[in-house]
Amino acid sequence: MPLPPDTGSLNVGSFWEESVGSIQEDPKLFGEAAFDFAIVGAGFTGLSAAIALTGAGASVCILEAGRVGWGASGRNGGFCCLGGSKLSDRQMVRRYGLDQARAYFDYQCEAIEAVSNRLESYQIEADRHSHGEIYLAHRPSDFAGFAEEARFLDDSYGIKARVLSPGDLRTEGIAGPEFHGGLHVPVGFALNPMKYVQGLARKARARGVRIYARSPATGIEPALDGAWSLKTPEGTVRAGKVILAGNAYAREDTPAWLKGRLFPVMSSILVTRPLTDAELSDQGWTSDLMASDTRTLLHYFRLLPDRRFLFGTRGGLFETQSSLSRMHAAARDDFDRMFPAWRGVETSHAWYGHVCLTRDLVPYVGPVPRMDGVFAAMAWHGSGIAMASLSGEKLAELALGRIGQDSLPQAITAPPRKFPLPALRGAYLQGAYWWYALQDR
Ligand SMILES: Cc1cc2nc3c(=O)[nH]c(=O)nc-3n(C[C@H](O)[C@H](O)[C@H](O)COP(=O)(O)OP(=O)(O)OC[C@H]3O[C@@H](n4cnc5c(N)ncnc54)[C@H](O)[C@@H]3O)c2cc1C
Repeated sequence: MPLPPDTGSLNVGSFWEESVGSIQEDPKLFGEAAFDFAIVGAGFTGLSAAIALTGAGASVCILEAGRVGWGASGRNGGFCCLGGSKLSDRQMVRRYGLDQARAYFDYQCEAIEAVSNRLESYQIEADRHSHGEIYLAHRPSDFAGFAEEARFLDDSYGIKARVLSPGDLRTEGIAGPEFHGGLHVPVGFALNPMKYVQGLARKARARGVRIYARSPATGIEPALDGAWSLKTPEGTVRAGKVILAGNAYAREDTPAWLKGRLFPVMSSILVTRPLTDAELSDQGWTSDLMASDTRTLLHYFRLLPDRRFLFGTRGGLFETQSSLSRMHAAARDDFDRMFPAWRGVETSHAWYGHVCLTRDLVPYVGPVPRMDGVFAAMAWHGSGIAMASLSGEKLAELALGRIGQDSLPQAITAPPRKFPLPALRGAYLQGAYWWYALQDR
């Protein structure tokens, strides 16, 4: 996992960076400091936890290796949607039972609602659009399953999803040669994630949270009186309690408990220049709905409010320049195939980031075993805008002793297990990509 540079630019080339103009750089930690809480990571999880902790009068600092939103929170597709686990709804029911599957579903909806409320109450202007999300069948057999899926969503969770035929899709401005019908689930919305995460940071600073940028925590050790000591290259923080919010960007040795438990996987995004009216109508895509296809190695895409098109994919194994170039070129090939009328439209921005998986394919929110006073919330499986936001807040309440873990859905309460032979995670991924690509045909 490449660490952000100690000096120089922290830009990753995203459209989001450009869209917010300048990003405030917080100071580095020099010397010694003491707080009630130290949080590792300034993304949605860490900032949400920090804001909630200040509500209880706690003094809080955040140690961030890069700057606010340098990790996945400033790089993602901006789909504030259902997700957080890689288990299907049916697998969730089989593993945890219907009541707990409902509890998990309700938690996801509460999480989306929480983001919506924050945008309003913190007055964050984040270019919100899209009523819910549409899943597009990339082959006719997937479309055949949508009616049953809509019934399942209604029977299990009371969600009224709508099935759209290929003709309906064309009428609603969602056309493409690979779309064989759609399932519109009216939950969630889209936003500019960098505007959201910077808005959270503004709120946190205003509440007195000290954010230290370019200050990676390189060790967490017990200190006197049950406190913890966190080291950075140029300083030390002593804290009564610690919250780990590094997700896919966490160092595996900080603390050692993390080793082998998380699986960072790459996802890449390209954004085009703004499309003209003629280009939109040539392709038959004018909808502002956020969309994804039914592939396991899914594509996710949406028309942005300024008419750029955002297109994201999974894939990529190595972070060498040549491998990254191949990854971006493969994404562009997929885009050209799925949106042929836009073959000639330039990509203005392309970037990538890491999403975080676990062996059990579910997130974790709770205490770190055998580290009294240390808590973690992580592994949103590629859908963390909503889940990380709510879970950061819940983790703060857990750490304050205001709620117990039993108030959370069972699916997110078991500490992640280690992967067998963790050094081979890259090889598993290579195998998984090969297998899923075969299944997605
Ligand atoms: C390309 C891409 C597209 C995505 N699209 C979507 C989407 O459309 N919708 C959605 O819901 N989710 C999406 N996600 C996932 C979502 O972005 C993440 O789940 C979410 O941002 C995680 O937030 P977080 O705060 O837990 O972690 P992050 O935002 O990754 O923040 C962790 C921070 O911790 C810091 N850190 C780590 N270790 C240390 C340390 N030792 N010391 C100091 N700092 C440290 C890192 O620098 C980083 O800034 C996407 C992710 C990617 C990469």
